[in-house]
Amino acid sequence: MSVNSGNKEKGPRQEVSVSRRGFLKTGVAAAAMGVMGAIAAPSKMANAASASLTYQPAKGQWSKLRPVNNYGGASVRYAEINNQCLGTSKIVGPVIQTNEKDAGFALAFRGLLGDKAKYGIMTQGKRYPMAASFQIPMSPLAAMVSGKPSPDKFQIPDPEQMSQHIKDFGYYLRCDEVGIGVMPDYAYYKGTQAPPLGAYVSGAVPLQTPMTDVPIKDKLPYVICLAVEQHLETSMASTGYDGISVVQSMRSYHAAANAAVIMANYIRSLGYNARAQHYVNYEVVMTPCLIAAGMGELTRTGDSAAHPRIGFRHKSSAVTTDLPLVADKPIDFGMQDFCRVCKKCADNCPAQAITFDDDPIPHNGYLRWNTDSKKCAVFRCANDEGVNCGRCIKVCPWNSKEDSWFHEAGLWIGSKGETASTFLKTIDDMFGYGTEDLTQYQWWLEWPENYKFQIPAVPTVPAK
Ligand code: SF4
Ligand code: SF4
Repeated sequence: MSVNSGNKEKGPRQEVSVSRRGFLKTGVAAAAMGVMGAIAAPSKMANAASASLTYQPAKGQWSKLRPVNNYGGASVRYAEINNQCLGTSKIVGPVIQTNEKDAGFALAFRGLLGDKAKYGIMTQGKRYPMAASFQIPMSPLAAMVSGKPSPDKFQIPDPEQMSQHIKDFGYYLRCDEVGIGVMPDYAYYKGTQAPPLGAYVSGAVPLQTPMTDVPIKDKLPYVICLAVEQHLETSMASTGYDGISVVQSMRSYHAAANAAVIMANYIRSLGYNARAQHYVNYEVVMTPCLIAAGMGELTRTGDSAAHPRIGFRHKSSAVTTDLPLVADKPIDFGMQDFCRVCKKCADNCPAQAITFDDDPIPHNGYLRWNTDSKKCAVFRCANDEGVNCGRCIKVCPWNSKEDSWFHEAGLWIGSKGETASTFLKTIDDMFGYGTEDLTQYQWWLEWPENYKFQIPAVPTVPAK
């Protein structure tokens, strides 16, 4: 297994590491609680989220299977969607919609990020065979995203009750977080890519098939977001850029895609329009959808929305629909302040793709950190120490590492502004959180000899 080398340009990180158990035994925890007291910690951390809500949600915003949203103890407030903001993300101009085929992996596949990235994206399944075992059965789901609604339309007298029911169904389908948002128009791609990338990679269509942009016609008013966690213990044992890293993504994409296809079918059987949005056939950009559905805030990584309980250690799918629903509100748990001081992902990114800037900058009509998504895509495709990458996911302090009062207390501290964020980040570093490789959980096989690149005669690629 690869050894954690931190940020490769900076060399191995020298970190003070303290065992969690030792920390608690020596009473430093008591000191930590003292600091928490100074910033007015509530008596029960587990109730911190509900105690700080300033907006009384309708009954449809809670599910029966998940009667209280699990924010992992973070202090959460509600935010708005309007033409100046999407939750805590500021809108500074018309938001420019992009084409799906201009996103990172598609650019690599089209040969626009170099031969190594092009070859890398096409051979992920070959270099780590377990990845192909997810990619191949996922490919047919590309054709199962839409259909005609049943002509027998069920009446929905109570959209709140329907929202509650839909969330319950999402949890029943084994999703870990479910939210409903008002669908922002700019969260649709300008054009979706046809055939989808997964169809090429899995071999469902010949590589010579031309790739085209298909304009999005049928825009629906609501988005139901479905998130499936990446496996926690595997994440703790992985460097984040070894072979299993690609499977961590595929496992969650596969589960989320199945859930979206089933949910969209169900809604159509009730007589309403519904389109599944998943890894092998998205019409939407998931990050703004997740923010709209109250499932996260934009992060320093630029393209990911972190949830207060699980960070961005998840993959998501969605269903866009005109089923009468009541939407959730975006949430604010202090992520913008936290990212401003933390920079842990930037420090650990093996591709040096994540910015160290203090503040976000205007990008396509909204503010986001100036992270280089092309650099990230090149590394994820061409990484020759593993396959793909998710090291920023692993090291982020919001990626819940354990289910304990102490961790919940930490998240509560982290959502209390910049000073508290600095404190939590220091604690996170002291514990070596995110930078440890816990080999007792390493259940999988690594094939380092497979990861090195020997690019054969350049394979045929689709039209650009
Ligand atoms: S996924 Fe991309 S941004 Fe994140 S650590 Fe890896 S290369 Fe860096
Ligand atoms: S690691 Fe730190 S800076 Fe990066 S996304 Fe997470 S909280 Fe933000």
